[in-house]
Amino acid sequence: MQRDNLIFDIIRRERERQTKGIELIASENFVSDQVLEAMGSVLTNKYAEGYPGKRYYGGCEVVDESETIARDRLKQLFDAEYANVQPHSGAQANMAVFMACLQAGDTFMGLNLSHGGHLSHGSSVNFSGLMFHAIDYSLNEATSRVDYDELERKARAEHPKLIIAGASAYSREWDYARIRKVADEIGAIFMVDMAHPAGLIAAGLLDNPVKYAHIVTSTTHKTLRGPRGGVILMGKDFPNPWGKTTPKGEIKMMSAILDSAVFPGTQGGPLEHVIAAKAVSFGEALQPDFKTYQQQVKHNAAVMADAFMAKGYKIISGGTDNHSMLVDLRTKYPDLTGKVAEKALVAADITTNKNMVPFDTRSAFQTSGLRFGTPAITTRGLKEDKMPWIVDLIDTVLQAPESEANIQKVREEVNREMNRHPLFAW
Ligand SMILES: *Cc1c(COP(=O)(O)O)cnc(C)c1O
Repeated sequence: MQRDNLIFDIIRRERERQTKGIELIASENFVSDQVLEAMGSVLTNKYAEGYPGKRYYGGCEVVDESETIARDRLKQLFDAEYANVQPHSGAQANMAVFMACLQAGDTFMGLNLSHGGHLSHGSSVNFSGLMFHAIDYSLNEATSRVDYDELERKARAEHPKLIIAGASAYSREWDYARIRKVADEIGAIFMVDMAHPAGLIAAGLLDNPVKYAHIVTSTTHKTLRGPRGGVILMGKDFPNPWGKTTPKGEIKMMSAILDSAVFPGTQGGPLEHVIAAKAVSFGEALQPDFKTYQQQVKHNAAVMADAFMAKGYKIISGGTDNHSMLVDLRTKYPDLTGKVAEKALVAADITTNKNMVPFDTRSAFQTSGLRFGTPAITTRGLKEDKMPWIVDLIDTVLQAPESEANIQKVREEVNREMNRHPLFAW
């Protein structure tokens, strides 16, 4: 068969793009060569509907081993008693939890989308908002931190059956214990979606939500630095409080309900090549140098936030406890939108994304903010001494976002530095 040069040339160009630029998208990272190798393996050929030991296809005894190792390593990483490694993505993991805990039309509560929440926490264009009744809590306008008073007030008034903590653009630690308390008071299930900070949590640098939540979901490809995918975890089993009993009248444990919500509830066959790559990345995360990496991620983010503030930028909530930060451009460049800023930075080979800031005066398409994160550049080997340099480059671009000469100057400096930090061993 002829090699598909059209597609492999595109892959080569994408590899070049990743290599030459500064990657600041908070949800991205660079996986190791062995994670890539597992993903690109013959395991993609295997159908394995079901779970290890209970499959609907023959010949699963080998992949049963890698899926079991993935589950065991994940449980060890987060001190969990239940793990499902099959969700194809973070949104799929969340969908399975909705399916397990709610019925169509039930009320649930998540963080307001324009305050950092995720699409799958109740957006009107996502299954979560289309099939269920979504209510939200917000950030406090003065502090830009979660307004726990409002959360409690709304929970008591509206009795959501599920309360979700976790966000896509929130740089602060959560008070999980406080949310669990109100969830218990009103008989709600408490779920934490740790998609963003999972790697920092695994390294023990942020509080572990598995200790507080009934159910925890995550992606594996953000700070956790695994392949693109999702997982579901629980600290301990509990019977389903909504009285979902089997036809024989027995109460099913939540672990069994969640397993069936993933398959056959919302997915078909698992991606065993990705699950093997998840196992490899969890193994990496269990090594001592993963903690060193995450400490550097966190330190780089703190230094970067300080460098922005020193230049007169506003950082939402005044800093960061994790790997990410949200910059409100309005204090320094009131007329500059996130959209224009993102485009100029990308032209300078600095990749970031526009983001709404809490109480934004612009639309989600324009926005007044930019979101930055340090997981990818830290994997690349950049240390805290380089953070003020990056902020300088960003500021140079934003001073004259329309100037091609200006952008070119920055791009050359970016490419020169990144050349010194090889990304792939092959
Ligand atoms: C990224 C993210 C997800 C979704 O992950 P996908 O793999 O893109 O589906 C879910 N929840 C939160 C909080 C996220 O940040």
